[in-house]
Amino acid sequence: MVEVKKNQEYEIKIESFGNSGEGISHIDGYTLFVSGALPGEKVRVVVTKTKKNYGYARLLSVITPSPDRVEPVCPVAKRCGGCELQHMSYEAQLGFKIGRVKECLERIGGVVVPLLESIGCEDEPWHYRNKAQFPIGKNKEGKRVIGFYAARSHDIIPCDECVIQQPIINEIKKVVEDNIDLTEDIRHLYIRTAAATGQTMVCLVVFKKTADVEDIISKIKEIKNVTSICINYNKKETNVILGESFEMVEGPLYIEDKIGDVLFRIAPESFYQVNSYITGKLYDKALEYASLGGDEVVWDLYCGIGTISLFLSKKAKEVIGVEIVEQAIKNAKENAKINGIDNAEFICGAAEDVIDAAMENTNIDLPDVVVVDPPRKGCDEKLITAIGKASPSRIVYVSCDPATLARDIDRLSEYGYSLKRGCVVDQFWQTRHVETVALLEK
Ligand code: SAH
Repeated sequence: MVEVKKNQEYEIKIESFGNSGEGISHIDGYTLFVSGALPGEKVRVVVTKTKKNYGYARLLSVITPSPDRVEPVCPVAKRCGGCELQHMSYEAQLGFKIGRVKECLERIGGVVVPLLESIGCEDEPWHYRNKAQFPIGKNKEGKRVIGFYAARSHDIIPCDECVIQQPIINEIKKVVEDNIDLTEDIRHLYIRTAAATGQTMVCLVVFKKTADVEDIISKIKEIKNVTSICINYNKKETNVILGESFEMVEGPLYIEDKIGDVLFRIAPESFYQVNSYITGKLYDKALEYASLGGDEVVWDLYCGIGTISLFLSKKAKEVIGVEIVEQAIKNAKENAKINGIDNAEFICGAAEDVIDAAMENTNIDLPDVVVVDPPRKGCDEKLITAIGKASPSRIVYVSCDPATLARDIDRLSEYGYSLKRGCVVDQFWQTRHVETVALLEK
């Protein structure tokens, strides 16, 4: 076996995709990961890091390009950690995601995958994100910058116009960028906008409020469609962006968006899907898989601001939503009220604890259908056991990580559930992230 060495250049053929859309090649059995290289391509690379059985290489040149290769639209696409797939045509991006879900389900979940459906972008796959968190700090030359963190780093990469953010987000960022030398007290710019209503919230995360911070706020006030401005105080030196206390400057401490015919109030701390254009299709698919007749009790676990719960409530007898973030539960209760929905109840707590306790409590109705939509780490093992005991006839699993989805499907198979249908819903155009809806039945 040849020894693959750091700083050595090689001409290699890319064989397949890695988990993040990077290219994989082998030199005499040794695995190399190459960001920005596509399967089928012959490329020249330089090895940047070596481990015992695998290493990483940087793409120097593409000798034979793949037909799926396109020129990235964004000039900082390679350096910024946001868009890992801009060098691929949109069809190829969707194909990569479908392949990744299938591979995880087969390899980790150990299941024979039924026909996998997919929903992707049908228009232009740009300017969709409704949320941005821009770090503000100094670059290596000591100059103050605002931008995005580079992949696996805290280097801030400035970006004139982010092509995946909605235009108003770039507009607000520019105003802050033009005044960035005024103060060192702002550490993050956090923006959320609603596609359906145009309402936009700007939140400045600061160490402290000074006259210079107020000066920047007065400039933000002049931007059209900014409906809420708030300050968030965060003095802690951790990776968590938002501190605990908010101060309202203007407007309410929420924005409102509409999906289908349901209106949602969203507080800054609450989770909300980032692609407002496709979220409705995701929830429609969850509703379709839930196949409700009107008599069912549904548990919507990891419910956020009650989006899926309220979507399903119209076709169910009763929905119980469970969510760990208190502010999100407050939003969920409000959202039920403003939409005139009275068959949805919301409980704040860790899904695994609430459901475990509910199993002992005869006042809580056992579910006919369970919906779960956990963060990337998937469901807690305790929750899987509780769902197994509750024994719903259907489980609709909304997942943002196919590896943990596959693991949880495998765990649920011990309770007699198997995968009946699956749909990859591409919410994250240009990025490696994958969303899947899966239907499991006894
Ligand atoms: N279904 C919602 C939210 C999905 S995101 C939507 O589509 O908008 C996942 C949610 O799970 C987040 O709101 C997060 O705060 C919540 N969460 C994380 N861990 C949790 C836990 N252990 N129990 C309950 N909710 C949890």
